[in-house]
Amino acid sequence: LEIEAPIASATEPDATSVTISNRDRVIYPESSITKGELADYYAAVASIMLPWCGSRPISLVRCPQGRAKKCFFQKHDAGSFGDAVKHVGILEKDGHEEPYLFVDSADGLLTCVQMGTIEFHGWGARIEDVEKADRLVFDLDPDEGLDFEAVRKAAFHFRDILKSIGLETFPMATGGKGIHVIAPLVPRAEWPEVKDFAHRLAQAVAQSDPDNFTAALPKAQRKGRIFVDYLRNQRGATAVMPYAVRARPEAPVAAPITWKEMETIDKPSHFHISDAAELVKRAASRALSGWGRADQVLPDL
Ligand code: ATP
Ligand code: MN
Ligand code: MN
Repeated sequence: LEIEAPIASATEPDATSVTISNRDRVIYPESSITKGELADYYAAVASIMLPWCGSRPISLVRCPQGRAKKCFFQKHDAGSFGDAVKHVGILEKDGHEEPYLFVDSADGLLTCVQMGTIEFHGWGARIEDVEKADRLVFDLDPDEGLDFEAVRKAAFHFRDILKSIGLETFPMATGGKGIHVIAPLVPRAEWPEVKDFAHRLAQAVAQSDPDNFTAALPKAQRKGRIFVDYLRNQRGATAVMPYAVRARPEAPVAAPITWKEMETIDKPSHFHISDAAELVKRAASRALSGWGRADQVLPDL
């Protein structure tokens, strides 16, 4: 992918005071990527990752024995991560409050890595008011066997439909198999309204093009189609954060791209942990510096 010259000088890695133990421990057995390399990657991208990730509740994919062994998804913690990993109290359905996590510094990210974290996932809301969504995300999940051309077409389809109802969107290559089409929102609408909007839009797309799309949850109905995972748009649901490393072979990363790049990118796992410097440079370019930012609210549907 080619991107024009940066408009700002690329940032230096953030200084951190976190000590990473066992830097040489291999976390990715297929490619001998170590815990130290994972920590260095997150230090390098902290300044471009935190503007999006730093203000929202997060969940961690922790794989203390490496990506190929048992991993677990962690939503809360009472304090064992230390001071750099902060807490935001969020009401559970039964009415009691649980401490959810957020990180707003390189030290916070690296503390999580020290604790065996590979992936960072985040809410679609900010810690200031977790009841109001600050983004819609259409998580386009291709059925096994579908090639990326189908996903590319689907992403443009969602861009066009959302644009036609007044929403600007930004694409993210997930590092996995699909694309996230993200519409930033001024935090105003609450989760039930946002989920209903996403559900109805996903259903409308699936009904008008049932050969290519489905919004149905049963896996049997996804055969040969793209599943529009609208459920990322409900309270408490998370999506992988921009610049997070995936716990998948070869350590691909979730990367913001431009719609222009969507025309030519080869696959959603185009960028890898070894591309930190390039990702930092890209983020300073005119084409990407406004990624994920738009002053807009949910339209009537
Ligand atoms: P791909 O492009 O391969 O689909 P993805 O990140 O979109 O990558 P999905 O499986 O479509 O992967 O997304 C599922 C989302 O659900 C993740 O982004 C994550 O935030 C969330 N998730 C993943 N694992 C869990 C889990 N164990 N519990 C709750 N939520 C999870
Ligand atoms: Mn997906
Ligand atoms: Mn999904």
